[in-house]
This record gives sequence, C-alpha cells and structure tokens, in this order.
Amino acid sequence: MDFVHESERKIPVVAHPDILVIGAGPAGIGAAVAAARNGARVLLVERYGFLGGNLTVAMVNPMFTFHDIEGRQVIRGIAGELVDRLVELTASPGHVRDLTFDNASMTPFDPEGMKYTLFQMVCEAGVELLLHTWVVDVVVTGSTIQSVIIENKSGRQAIQPGIVIDCSADGDAAARAGAPFTKGREGDGMMQPVTLFFRIADVDDQRLRVWMKANRDLLKDSPTDEEIDSSDVLAFLGLQSLVVKAMERGEFPASAAPRILLYQLPRKGQVAVNTTRLQGIDGTNADDLTRAEVLTREQAWQIHRFLKANIGGFEESYILDTGIQVGVRETRHIVGDYTLTEDDVLSGRRFSDGIACGTFAIDIHPPDGQQQIYTGSGKAVYEIPYRCCTPVGFDNLLVAGRCISATHAAFGSARVMATSMAIGQGAGTAAALAVRAGQITRQVSIQAVRTTLLEQGQYLLDDRAEEIRDDDLKLQKGESSGAAASHYNPFADKQ
Ligand SMILES: Cc1cc2nc3c(=O)[nH]c(=O)nc-3n(C[C@H](O)[C@H](O)[C@H](O)COP(=O)(O)OP(=O)(O)OC[C@H]3O[C@@H](n4cnc5c(N)ncnc54)[C@H](O)[C@@H]3O)c2cc1C
Repeated sequence: MDFVHESERKIPVVAHPDILVIGAGPAGIGAAVAAARNGARVLLVERYGFLGGNLTVAMVNPMFTFHDIEGRQVIRGIAGELVDRLVELTASPGHVRDLTFDNASMTPFDPEGMKYTLFQMVCEAGVELLLHTWVVDVVVTGSTIQSVIIENKSGRQAIQPGIVIDCSADGDAAARAGAPFTKGREGDGMMQPVTLFFRIADVDDQRLRVWMKANRDLLKDSPTDEEIDSSDVLAFLGLQSLVVKAMERGEFPASAAPRILLYQLPRKGQVAVNTTRLQGIDGTNADDLTRAEVLTREQAWQIHRFLKANIGGFEESYILDTGIQVGVRETRHIVGDYTLTEDDVLSGRRFSDGIACGTFAIDIHPPDGQQQIYTGSGKAVYEIPYRCCTPVGFDNLLVAGRCISATHAAFGSARVMATSMAIGQGAGTAAALAVRAGQITRQVSIQAVRTTLLEQGQYLLDDRAEEIRDDDLKLQKGESSGAAASHYNPFADKQ
C-alpha cells in the first residue's frame, strides 16, 4: 500500500467543556441531558444534522424494553420522560404490549416526533450542540485524553474537555485513544449482521387485522382475535414458511432474515420493517458499509414486493423511506474495568456500582447461519455496573451505549435503545459528579451517583426505588420457543 505524509499543522482549540459527549444516539442523549442537569457544561458532538442515532438515523423502531415480565417499569428517568413527551405530542402511543418477542412491552414512536422532542430536551437542559461534526482523533498524555480532534465544514479543530463520554456506538474516540477492545463474538470476532430498516406507508389497518386473524398460525405465538383487536399498535414476527418458499423461488433475498418482523407506527398506515439482513459486514469498515447500503436497499424493495403479494392490507402500500444509513448492530466492545456477562444478565445480578437496569432478552441475530438466538426476556432484571463504562487505563474517559464492556452474549441484551439511554444517564450523572468534585472518573462516589439517579427518577435494584407496575403490560403467556419465527430459545432448554 502507498502512503502519504500529512504535514504537521496547528489547529484551533474551539471549546473547553467540562464534559464532551460524542454521538447523539440514545446513550449520548441520556449522558448529555443527565450531565447538564447535574450542573456540568456539556458539549454534544454529532456527525449528522439531527439527534437520535438509531432512533432516527437508522429508523429503528420500537424502543425495547421498559418493563419486566411482571409489568414493573425498570427503565424510567430520562428515557421515561422522553416517552411521556412523545405521547403528549401524539408521536407515540406509549408503552404497549409486545406481540413480537417475549417482552412485556414495546414502545413505538414516530421518528420525526422523536427528532423534534430530542432537540427540545437537549436544548432545555442547556447542552451545547455541535452538529455535522465527526470526531476523528484524540491526543492522549499518559492516561488522560487532552484533546479530541474534530472535522466539519469549518475545518479541523480541537476540543479540550475535562471528561469525554464516548457514545459513538463504535467507540471511535476510545479506540483512537488506544483503549483495548474486542469485536463481536469471542473466539472468531464475528459480529451481528446489519439491517436496513424501511418504512412502508398506506397499509390498510383493517385489512391487516383480518389477514392476521385468518393467518394466525403463520405468526409467532398465534395471537388470538382478542389480542389482535385490542392492540392499538399491531406488530408481528413470522411467516417463515412463506418466506422460505419465496426464497426458493428467488422472490425473497437469500441473505435476508428468513421471516418477516414488522411494527405499526403511530402515524396512520405506516409500518417499520426489520427484515433485511447482511452478514459479514464490519461497521467500522467503509468498504463494507458501502456494500451494505447498496445490497440492503435491493433487499428492501424485494421484501416490499413480497409483502404486497402475500399480506392483506399491503396491496396499495409503498416504501416511504429507508434508514438514513444501514443499522449496525455490533462492532467494538471497549474493555472496561468489568465486563458484563451472559450469567449477569440471566441471573439478574445486582452490582454495588449499578448505574442502570436492563431486562431485554439476549437477542442475537446470527453472525452466521440463520437461527436467531433469543434468551429469556424479562425473566430477570439486571444492573449494568459503572465499571463497564470505565475503559481500562484511562482517567477521564467513559463509554456508554453500544460500546460498553460486555461479552457478545450480554451485549445481545444491553444493546437496546431504552437500556442504552439509561446507561447514558448513569455515565453522564457520574461524570457530572466527578467534575463537580474535581475527581477522575474512577474516584467518583458511586453511592452518590446511585442516590442522584434515584432522586432524579431512575430505577435501580435498590430498596429505595418504589415499584411502578402496569398490569396491562404483564406478560400473560408462557415463554414461547419462538419456533414459528425461527428463533431458538436456549433458556427453555436450561430449565
Ligand atoms: C437493525 C437494528 C435493529 C435494532 N432493533 C432494535 C429494536 O427494535 N429496539 C431497540 O430498542 N433497539 C434495537 N436495536 C439496538 C439499538 O438501536 C442500538 O444498540 C442503540 O441505538 C445503541 O445506542 P447508542 O447511543 O450506543 O448508538 P447509536 O444509536 O448508534 O448512536 C450513535 C451516535 O453516534 C454518532 N457517531 C458515531 N460515530 C461518530 C463520530 N466519529 N463522530 C461523531 N458522531 C458519531 C452517530 O451518528 C449516532 O448518532 C437495533 C439495532 C439495529 C442496528
């Protein structure tokens, strides 16, 4: 390979925030709002011109999952407030029963309402924003990040923050700083596949309900008439047999997921489809991403043709849009002082330094093969320790969201958007308290962090947290094997 030498140059230092948050996805929003509300001067840098990360960029829908199997709300705080505001705006029906997986609830939303509401929340908290800006490098002295280098239309510049919270999902800043990381699955490094979400408009709700009742056996858990009629927001997972036959006829993309997973959205006639799939893509490699953008769009159009031909209500529908970019499920796991494990998730482990809860299943779209692994949703509520957010060897760097320290399996649960926002809130609160006390990230009083989180409405596995339970969201059914949807549930085998 040929190389060129860039000449040395001086670049301007444009900001000295107490806390720099990189990336405005669920984790970055949680971190920035929490840190600003706790008194820190916060700068939030984002490469796109709007906020939300996968909530808006990749058009991922719905948010999972705020409630455990008993209907107890275990993610509250900033994520809970966001949902309340979306409901107020009529941009979300709020938490509704999940008809797709074995979660008690799912939380669909309108992505435009999401963009608007996130801007409101961030600005009201006093967070300074810098959009259209990529973080491209860092300057490190010993264990401290001195400067973060950014690029945008104004050129190359530097930011000198007290603490950096990397919420870029890929852990870009942490990786540039030299923090240790793993990628994907232990052993072979293979990562979950990418998926391009797309939205379909002009779906006839009534015809869809009639079709679902007539074809319930093609759907996971065969929903009853009552379940279909009483659901304000329809969603389903299944059609495996039809999809496999269409694949054999060359009428369905061979590498896509061998089933249909779709969710109605709050706007009339709109659904979001989570079915395109491409394996072997490294989301930190631009060539791979380029290939994925091309091939998954091809898949989206083929899948839409399949839906029009096979599902009632889709006859007059059309593709409204595709994600701004393909959704990347998994890349770097930055190695922290503690690595969350599958056993922590399944046993509902509490930690003395827990800063957020999770209760979503271990949901692993297969890095190879076709069978999705789906383990024990809502069976347990576990905590994510602060140490998963403190990369080994750094004093003023935290990570939150998709790039925290977790094994491939534990990540399969902690990765979802409600949990990511809760982790962000935990990390942002800890960073603000550290700044206030003039401490490095590891010195912060974790008891003070937990108390602040509880006082500010977050839930933790702590006797001081009051129970909030919604019986409508209590899971009625026994856990399904998911066989109708080609899901494998090892949890069932373990019992
Ligand atoms: C296809 C797919 C389906 C999914 N399905 C669901 C689901 O149904 N429900 C659910 O709850 N979760 C789902 N998830 C998981 C969830 O979307 C993510 O794990 C979650 O969004 C992670 O949050 P985050 O804030 O860490 O990262 P992201 O949401 O990815 O946000 C990262 C942000 O950082 C910005 N950024 C990245 N690099 C830089 C840089 N160098 N400089 C500046 N900005 C940068 C990005 O633009 C982005 O805004 C799905 C994910 C995918 C990909």
